[in-house]
Amino acid sequence: MSAVVTIENARKTAAANSAPEWLAELQSIISPNHAFADFETLLEHSRDRLPFGRFRHRSNQLTGVLPSAVVKPASVSEVQTVVKFATEHNLSVIPYGSGSGVLGGTVPFQGEMIVASNRMNHVIEIDETNRVVRVEAGTNGRALEVALRDKGYTCGHYPQSMDMSTVGGWVACRGSGQSSSRYGNIEDMIVGLKVVLPSGELLEVRHAPRRSVGPSIIELFIGSEGVFGIIVELTMRIWRLPAQEINAVIAFPGIEQGLNAARDVMQAELRPSILRLYDKGESERWGQGDLPDETHPVMCMLVFSGSHAVAEAEAGLAIEICKKHGGVIISNEPLRRWQKVRFESHSEEFVNAGGFYDTIEIAAPWSALPEMYAKIQAAVAKKYPVVQLNAHWSHAYSDGACMYMTSKFPAMADEQALPMHSDIWDIVMKLCLEFGGTISHHHGIGYFRNRWIREELKFGHDVLFELKRALDPGLLFNPGKLGLESEA
Ligand SMILES: Cc1cc2nc3c(=O)[nH]c(=O)nc-3n(C[C@H](O)[C@H](O)[C@H](O)COP(=O)(O)OP(=O)(O)OC[C@H]3O[C@@H](n4cnc5c(N)ncnc54)[C@H](O)[C@@H]3O)c2cc1C
Repeated sequence: MSAVVTIENARKTAAANSAPEWLAELQSIISPNHAFADFETLLEHSRDRLPFGRFRHRSNQLTGVLPSAVVKPASVSEVQTVVKFATEHNLSVIPYGSGSGVLGGTVPFQGEMIVASNRMNHVIEIDETNRVVRVEAGTNGRALEVALRDKGYTCGHYPQSMDMSTVGGWVACRGSGQSSSRYGNIEDMIVGLKVVLPSGELLEVRHAPRRSVGPSIIELFIGSEGVFGIIVELTMRIWRLPAQEINAVIAFPGIEQGLNAARDVMQAELRPSILRLYDKGESERWGQGDLPDETHPVMCMLVFSGSHAVAEAEAGLAIEICKKHGGVIISNEPLRRWQKVRFESHSEEFVNAGGFYDTIEIAAPWSALPEMYAKIQAAVAKKYPVVQLNAHWSHAYSDGACMYMTSKFPAMADEQALPMHSDIWDIVMKLCLEFGGTISHHHGIGYFRNRWIREELKFGHDVLFELKRALDPGLLFNPGKLGLESEA
């Protein structure tokens, strides 16, 4: 990794140097108003929402380096032009959605050119007969949902970052929304796509409800994090907005009972649109005065939706299951509290006040979750008592669930905090792998998880690299991400 560059030094270097020689040529083939090399635009695109990058930014440092330019094509053919230009000039490229990624997936480390998708932001067609939408990849998540809701539909994908992310970014990061237990994850929703490959060719997988024509080409790009090309268009399943939503908040005697109940709900083939089980610390945060007493310190929020009959039947069955595990129904107030801020970033205040805040989402089979949680909690508490580490379980399946951890530590010097932050990641990733979990449920790898990807994928990582070489022989697309280091 490159040495730390201060923002001040980067500004001075940018002022002393002229724009790259090739920029004028690029501006002449796409609109000059949409290829930039001014310092402020470069700085804005030099980082995403990787917490480590935010700590560095707070200390007036870059996460990596500045990109060489930022280009904003407005059509598929303009993307092809830009990509062919980049390949001909041997320029590295980083596809960019909205920069809401939290693993540094868009951070340049060798002056790459950013190709931003935000001018490709149209909902092309809502096909009501087949219940699919065709949408340009740079479309903002909320804008897509608003267009669908105007006609009584939803795409069912509600990441917390919905207002600040693009549909292409959802796919590139293999994302997951808050209602995944009902609507599935992004890979269950995408039924067609168009990608501009590093060669500049346009690859199209046209819509089909399912196909058995070899391995899925669509899946190759879901989670590709910009290393295989630029996703330019998607076809996604859509659903009628539910007629009814039934809410319930249940308090449990402990995490084990809560996890057993969540497992039984999913194994009973119920499909909650929200299932969120919180540990004691997080239950206190959302429950405030609404948790009954110390006998039931752990809370689970449930929402069932659909037609009246289906939502009522599913909610009834789920509540019965929860009661069998010692659950008691409490006020819905904690759920309302969460719903008010469910699409907001919760770290801003904390980080702006000088503290350190990060999230780590992993997933594991039900059998591993209770002990994995206990071991991670104990290991972090023993080594770093100053750190507050809590977890919730959302995105539940019949065979396991995502465990989403938040770590918070108070304001202190970077020299003290950053090694601690790095070590906590190491502790969590190692214990996760030891328990047979996966190192990421939905945030992806970016560059920040490079350290652990090989241990998780093993020979599968070599297979990924072979695919990378075949599609991108110059290794120009998002170099170093997904652990695919350049061979230079
Ligand atoms: C507060 C907060 C909450 C979040 N909540 C969730 C959540 O609930 N669920 C979830 O899944 N994620 C969540 N995230 C993570 C992040 O928002 C998602 O990963 C999102 O999908 C990234 O979209 P983006 O458009 O901002 O992509 P970017 O950050 O711009 O890019 C992310 C990666 O995708 C690649 N990429 C982007 N667009 C394209 C394209 N068109 N073609 C090829 N590659 C591309 C980039 O090269 C990069 O590797 C959250 C982030 C924040 C800050």
